[in-house]
Amino acid sequence: MLNVKRVVLRSRPGKNGHPVPENFRVEEIRKSPELKEGQVLVRTLYLSVDPYMRCRMNDDTGADYLLPWRLDECVDGGGVGIVEASKNQALSVGTIVTSFNWHWQTYDVMDGSLLQKVDPEMVDGHLSYALGAVGMPGLTAFLGVREKGHVTAGAHQTMVISGAAGACGSVAGQIARLDGCERVVGICGSDQKCQTLVTELGFTAGINYRNGDISSALREQCPRGIDIYFDNVGGPISDAVISQMNPGGHVILCGQISQYNKDVPYPPPLSEDTQEALLRNNITRERFIVLNYMEKFEEGLMQLSHWVKMGQIKVLETVVNGIENMGEAFCSMMTGGNVGKQVVKISD
Ligand code: NDP
Repeated sequence: MLNVKRVVLRSRPGKNGHPVPENFRVEEIRKSPELKEGQVLVRTLYLSVDPYMRCRMNDDTGADYLLPWRLDECVDGGGVGIVEASKNQALSVGTIVTSFNWHWQTYDVMDGSLLQKVDPEMVDGHLSYALGAVGMPGLTAFLGVREKGHVTAGAHQTMVISGAAGACGSVAGQIARLDGCERVVGICGSDQKCQTLVTELGFTAGINYRNGDISSALREQCPRGIDIYFDNVGGPISDAVISQMNPGGHVILCGQISQYNKDVPYPPPLSEDTQEALLRNNITRERFIVLNYMEKFEEGLMQLSHWVKMGQIKVLETVVNGIENMGEAFCSMMTGGNVGKQVVKISD
């Protein structure tokens, strides 16, 4: 028998509550490592914490493609691990694998059909990148910009990104620059993050939304108005950005994290002024869900991998150690404790 540590959902924060680490519980179980035909034993290397998990903490996620986590059951999300024993011909011992539905536990017996192989070369030797810049958040940035952004090189466009120092935002801003936006302005929650955007990631400017008047900072940093807005946060930050958008502009409606601890539908209703600004200026704001573009994932991952390996996209990560800290890492990410992708290292 194997000793396995796992994380279960102890309680729900409530639709209007802030998640706390105590919503999770770590427990130890004994698990039979015996495999059926097609199964593998995996040891977890890295686990991902992501904003969409906040919806899974509610008993109704509000999205038909997201199942709620069940109380007292092991929770799941993106993970990367190594095959330690195999009864699956396609997955030999030592293969690195990933899944969107990886249990938050140190070891697991999984059906090989639920796993995708990770080529360490693709992630430049950094296996955690498969959960970030060369994984779902990177694809969200890439496909969001390419499918909804309408970036045209040489058109002197300005793109603003909220949640700019996070997993999706930090990559989206770098893609905007690579695709030819003239100005790339990031909004985030600290001066330190703003500095990182400019000095390390090549953003034109960073705006700390906690420093007060975002509108005047936007006017200063976007003198020709805003053409494209990659929206990760929603709420008053987005109202301020949209009010300065040029006619014919495009909002990439990626996420609305500022509203995730509120009992509102997704996407949350807009203020009348913002609704009116969108209509008056003929600004598109279509819902974007990365999972609707699965047929483009392979090509997207190849492109992201190429940029990362060439140093054209710089990857930022915040790594916490230990399965005991999953709840803490999730709550920290939800309140801006991360720079770049928040991951948890479970084993070497
Ligand atoms: P991040 O790495 O960006 O982490 C979340 C960040 O959100 C925090 O670091 C924090 O940064 C910021 N934040 C938290 N609360 C607020 C608030 N009230 N106002 C402003 N900023 C806040 O997460 P991801 O990159 O994984 O996700 C970013 C967004 O993209 C989320 O909205 C997520 O739901 C969405 N998403 C959408 C997908 C899709 O298919 N459409 C797929 C994946 C993600 P700060 O310090 O700046 O406050």
